[in-house]
Amino acid sequence: MQNSDKSKANKSGYTPMMEQYLAAKQENPEALLFFRMGDFYEMFFDDAITASQALEIVLTARESAGEKVPMCGVPHHSASSYIARLIKQGFKVAICEQVEDPRKAIGIVRREVVRVITPGTVLEDFLLDEDRNNYLASIYQIEDRAGIAYLDVSTGDFFASLLNGPGLVDGCCSELLRIQAVECLLGTDEDFAALLCGQESLEGIVFDQITDWPGGANGQSANGGMFEGRQNALESEPDLPSECRRAAEFLLDFVARSYRAVLAQIKCLRLYRPEKHMALDSTARKNLELINSLQENRKNSTLFNVLNHCKTAMGQRMLRRWIEEPLLDAVLINRRLDAVEELKNGLELHEKLTGLFKGVYDIERLCGRLGGNIASPRDLSALRQSLQQLPAIQDLCRSCQSPMMSEIVGHEELDDLRLLLNAAISENAPTALKDGGVIRNGFDPLIDELRNLAGEGQDWLLEYELREKERTGIRHLKIGYNRVFGYYIDISKASLGLVPDNYIRRQTLANNERYITPELKEFEDRIMNSGERLQEQESLVFQNIVHTALQALPQLQTVASLLAGLDTVASLARAAFLNDYVRPQFTAEPGLEIKSGRHPVVEKNLKDGRFVPNDLTMDNSRQHFALITGPNMGGKSTFMRQTALIVLMAQMGSFVPARSARLGLFDRICTRVGASDDLSGGHSTFMLEMVEVASIIRNATPYSLVLLDEVGRGTSTYDGLSIAQALCEHMCSKNHSFVLFATHYHELTALDEQLSGFFNISVSVLESGSQVTFLKRVLPGKADKSYGIHVARMADLPASLVERAETLLTGMEQNRTAVSSVLLEQPGLFDAPKPDHPVVQEIRRLDTDALSPREALLLLYQWKDRV
Ligand code: ATP
Repeated sequence: MQNSDKSKANKSGYTPMMEQYLAAKQENPEALLFFRMGDFYEMFFDDAITASQALEIVLTARESAGEKVPMCGVPHHSASSYIARLIKQGFKVAICEQVEDPRKAIGIVRREVVRVITPGTVLEDFLLDEDRNNYLASIYQIEDRAGIAYLDVSTGDFFASLLNGPGLVDGCCSELLRIQAVECLLGTDEDFAALLCGQESLEGIVFDQITDWPGGANGQSANGGMFEGRQNALESEPDLPSECRRAAEFLLDFVARSYRAVLAQIKCLRLYRPEKHMALDSTARKNLELINSLQENRKNSTLFNVLNHCKTAMGQRMLRRWIEEPLLDAVLINRRLDAVEELKNGLELHEKLTGLFKGVYDIERLCGRLGGNIASPRDLSALRQSLQQLPAIQDLCRSCQSPMMSEIVGHEELDDLRLLLNAAISENAPTALKDGGVIRNGFDPLIDELRNLAGEGQDWLLEYELREKERTGIRHLKIGYNRVFGYYIDISKASLGLVPDNYIRRQTLANNERYITPELKEFEDRIMNSGERLQEQESLVFQNIVHTALQALPQLQTVASLLAGLDTVASLARAAFLNDYVRPQFTAEPGLEIKSGRHPVVEKNLKDGRFVPNDLTMDNSRQHFALITGPNMGGKSTFMRQTALIVLMAQMGSFVPARSARLGLFDRICTRVGASDDLSGGHSTFMLEMVEVASIIRNATPYSLVLLDEVGRGTSTYDGLSIAQALCEHMCSKNHSFVLFATHYHELTALDEQLSGFFNISVSVLESGSQVTFLKRVLPGKADKSYGIHVARMADLPASLVERAETLLTGMEQNRTAVSSVLLEQPGLFDAPKPDHPVVQEIRRLDTDALSPREALLLLYQWKDRV
């Protein structure tokens, strides 16, 4: 609670309603409190000021305890859109509802906070992106170990991973980016929290520093919390490291507090094992444009976009995960590839299957809303339709060969639920229960009877109106209804003389009088009652069905995940078919042999001309460090990235853009690409470049693929060239990784004679007179120049400037010193220091005071000769 609110909470003199508000606010100080008053949610004090600004709504005031209390409000029926706007801006919202019928309340209506909505705990569709998980994370850190647990409340997906050792903050940052967490609870020390929250790349995440982390440092579990977390959710991982357990327990507790309930959709926790997945740090994910494009104006130029032909939201989320978490096990990868192959070759099967997927809704999130007890009739109707597709999907898959396709067959345990939903839920059930028409006719006898009564009621009214017209002789007699007086007989002033004695006057208007009769009153009681009873009975039957569906939640979640998998392989098959991809083959030896490889995204976006495919062969003995030289705009970067993307696609279980691809399994892809600044992080362009290089040197193994697109360009030529050369030497002799290094330092090409595994390739150019054509063809051997001035001309720099540059270049080339020969002999920057020259060693040992001037001079002459 903000300070000004707190002081008022202690002050007496407020109305009971305001006291009630302040008590609720005191319990939820960190959230904006939506306080239900009739048809509105009202906010008061500082909350009102904040919300009125954030939502651009009118701020008013209410007189209370002799002062003007700031106030604003939103209508209850449209509150969801306001809440969505607040959540998107990073606020939390506590919903305080009237929890008893105002008509039955004695004194002030009882109100309670029924839910606290935060970005990481939302379940509603309109607050979620359908193609990405919405993870709430929690980090529990002690010294150099941190457990991260993360849960998508909307689907129930629940994971944990352990990080330890140096670079813990970076590791946590990378994990949060990998899972794209929206909110993170921190049980860390203050320095750690400050470092993590200060990371620019984590800007969109809402952090909650938790000071009273249950268990604290003394190791008790979080079970003393308000709700016993779903302990069995953690039993699936008996060897869960204690840091992960604490993080997971607190997360469960936090969610249970937000919902005032334990959520049934939360799945068993699974430990994310990095050793089972290709390591992709956030830089690599960003540079390879896997999910997000680097450029605002090319939002769709991503691998995800090229591969995404999913028909369901569940499939899209799974595809995303497959892209971000490529596998390291050829058996698992081939399992996916088998399914992709079967669907790519079976066009008819593919067509039928994807046709059926169109009728499948987001079952994972429907399960989330069931578990969160907010499933609407429309949700059950969507579940009904989705399950209706299941038998046909199973039939199609029954004859499939690949194990992944056949896994969906069976699951008879959902037959009962499917039949129940079919029989019970109307096809176009409304969102709100109170709107009625949720339960099908013929399912529940009482509902049918009450509905008939309502129908019969209409007939009775018409008949009664007719009867009374005849009896009284009043031609314009009408029966009407309003909420205040109920049913009435309306008679114009002109006919008042004909009104019979048993009519009882209820209301007088300017031109009419309104009456009731005992008969009409009796009818009204019967009808009104039946409407209410109908609503109650529909609600009861609906709750029973929800309860039955809840019993089947684990089976529903299993089927949802299998359907998501099928949709994902169908999507990959479609992409493979449309774009002419091939199935990659895996070899036991590290290395790669790609024939006619292409860049999956660039080839789709080329406006002029065809993409030129290229080959690449690398092995772990003769050729594992490729230096790529050639002109600007020659296609070097594209070639490097396409290699990385082909490797990644293969290991996620996708076909690849090539004529053939034989690959060893890569444990990691590292990239150092282009220039970027991290000024707020305290890093200049060059510093950032060096930080990235240092990280690559630390992490790259003989099974890693490393892309280096220019290193050393951010400093003076000799400085940069020295660093670039030393890096080549180090990667070749120490890391033994598979490296693609694009550079304009042509001097480095001479290293092929010195370093084992080092080889040159270049992008070719056709030069005819002053005309230069970039062929985008990668060939063995080195390039001799960069054609930068030619590119400057293409970019329309003034002709005089380009001419002057050409003159200068000619002059410089004539005076150029043999930099390469100088540098190539220099000791490696990253090597251990070489032993001193013998002369230096002698000088070190020398007792200077014991020398005569003549002896000293003699020694100098000798040393000079030897040096
Ligand atoms: P620089 O040295 O200036 O960074 P580069 O050699 O890295 O240039 P790229 O950026 O890879 O060149 O390619 C330049 C453009 O050429 C790309 O934007 C792409 O449109 C096109 N291109 C690259 N490779 C191919 C190819 N194989 N076939 C057709 N077009 C290509």
